[in-house]
Amino acid sequence: VYKRQVVIKQVLYEGALMESINIFTQDSYFAITLFTLGLLLFSTIFSSRADKIAAPLWLLFIGLAVEFVAGGVSAEVTNVYNEGGSITAYVFVELLLLLIAMIFMAMAASQLLIRSLPSSPVIVMVTVLGVVAIAFFLFISPDGEMVNSMRQIFPLAAFAYIALSFWAQTFQCFNGGNLISALATTIVTVFLSMRLSGIQAVVAADMWFIPALTYTLLSLAFIMLYSDSMQTKLQKTELEVEKYNNRIEEIIRSSPFPIIISRLSDDKIILANNNAIKLFGINPRELERYRLKDFFADSDNRQLLNERLEQEREVQDFEILVKTPISNTPFWLLASANVIDYNYDVVLYSAYQDITSRKNRETLLKNQATRDPLTSLYNRRYFEDEVSKLILKAKADKTPYSVLMIDADLFKRVNDTYGHKVGDKVLIELASTSERALRDKDIVARYGGEEFVVFLPGIDSKEGRGVADRLRESISQVVVYSDDNKPVTFTVSIGVSSSEISDNIDTLIKTADEALYRAKQNGRNRVEVFSPKDFDDFVKQGQVERKDESQNHHPVFDKENVAEISLLDGIETSKLQNEQTFVEDARESRSVLPGVDAEDLK
Ligand code: GH3
Ligand code: MG
Ligand code: MG
Repeated sequence: VYKRQVVIKQVLYEGALMESINIFTQDSYFAITLFTLGLLLFSTIFSSRADKIAAPLWLLFIGLAVEFVAGGVSAEVTNVYNEGGSITAYVFVELLLLLIAMIFMAMAASQLLIRSLPSSPVIVMVTVLGVVAIAFFLFISPDGEMVNSMRQIFPLAAFAYIALSFWAQTFQCFNGGNLISALATTIVTVFLSMRLSGIQAVVAADMWFIPALTYTLLSLAFIMLYSDSMQTKLQKTELEVEKYNNRIEEIIRSSPFPIIISRLSDDKIILANNNAIKLFGINPRELERYRLKDFFADSDNRQLLNERLEQEREVQDFEILVKTPISNTPFWLLASANVIDYNYDVVLYSAYQDITSRKNRETLLKNQATRDPLTSLYNRRYFEDEVSKLILKAKADKTPYSVLMIDADLFKRVNDTYGHKVGDKVLIELASTSERALRDKDIVARYGGEEFVVFLPGIDSKEGRGVADRLRESISQVVVYSDDNKPVTFTVSIGVSSSEISDNIDTLIKTADEALYRAKQNGRNRVEVFSPKDFDDFVKQGQVERKDESQNHHPVFDKENVAEISLLDGIETSKLQNEQTFVEDARESRSVLPGVDAEDLK
């Protein structure tokens, strides 16, 4: 035992002299170093929020902290030695701590380099080997030189690993945190190598600032590593967003449907595929010039879509009426729209389907029920339905109205002389001339063969005569050409009845017809007005009921008949709360029975 003590003491004495980075000899050095180690702890805590660098930084911190404690024990070895006490136990603890520090720093290096720890058998083996070597050279075969070498080699190996791993990182991706870490740990490695090889000239006695400087530099490096890692993360996210946007863009561009992406905040179009560009007549180079709302022909339609999107963020099969710079008339599209995130914006993704042909078919069907195919004027049924409503409204508003009954003069002769085709042409011209000559709110209908009927809201009998006369005059000026190019002219006779006579559509038509008959009698190409005095005679002849006895609505839908129709519809009359609504419903249902008129229905 005595011999062992002497051997170790001899060698350690030299070793202790070489111990230059001794921060434990002066309180101020100790305080500064402890402070910078604390700094390192805080920066480790802060930067370990970035999950990828958290593990190596913590391992490195633990390694450095253990190294620090080992330094303390080392100082104690010197004290005890100077006082002449036994140092073997202290040296054992010191070497053990240095070994642990080395293993932690090696693990940190491995985490940095290959993103994983060495396998646990390797760690266990290195630890066991280290402990055995320490025990062997300290207790079994005491060798002061070997012990002193281990005191130098353990920290040197640890710093060499970590320095290497930081340099490797710096080569991989050049960024500040890794570079500073690499520099700091390399400087320490160089000093430790010098100490090992005994270059005392450089390693001066006052090297206490080396660990403090290392901790400070590493603190700074850790924070930089953290910011680097955040930046990489951000770049990755940006890349992912871009990839996602590209994918959406690809899907949109290759879609067989027209698709538009518009920003919700300002409604500007930011993306449109080729189909949408064609459909909406968009100039693809000036996409941002367009706003989605510009394409809506009907602002209420647009409002409704917005409201539904606000509620559900998704709308399917929404019909919109669209106008574009290239189409003269608005057309119908079926739209599906979603609110999505795109390119850091909240946008509306909308896909469209052209349903013009479907809508046209619908319109055609509707027109077939309401229009005369030859002249495109309304048919008699539509006229009677519509005018009944208008009369109710006029009565409520206390405004006058007139009804004109128009009949082509000696039309049989046109047919006989020029043929039926020319006769048809005359009827078409007669219809279009009447429509042009009258106001939009006037209702012109083909009543039958060569007879037309007109409803003039807001026009009393006196004005009605004027309108009729002007119409008669315009028609007389129309020229149609026969097959052999001969000019064909024609005239009409017009009978006028008005709100002064009746508020019943049937009576109005009958009395206008009566006036028309008179116009024919009086030489044709003229206008006759049915007066209230005529009406008295008419009543006397039993032709119609008195005005005040007449119903407000069409006689077909008087109370008796409502009951009959209600049986047809499976509705009991007693359940009818509002007769007027029912009358309206009944009229609707009549429109789905083409070819069945009021009398048939009755
Ligand atoms: P007026 O009314 O002046 O007394 O003489 P009119 O010759 O017009 O008399 P009427 O009402 O008897 O003749 C109507 C003719 O109109 C009979 C029919 O051949 C013809 N007509 C009715 N519908 C059409 C049609 O759709 N096309 C053609 N070309 N002729 C029609
Ligand atoms: Mg006729
Ligand atoms: Mg006629």
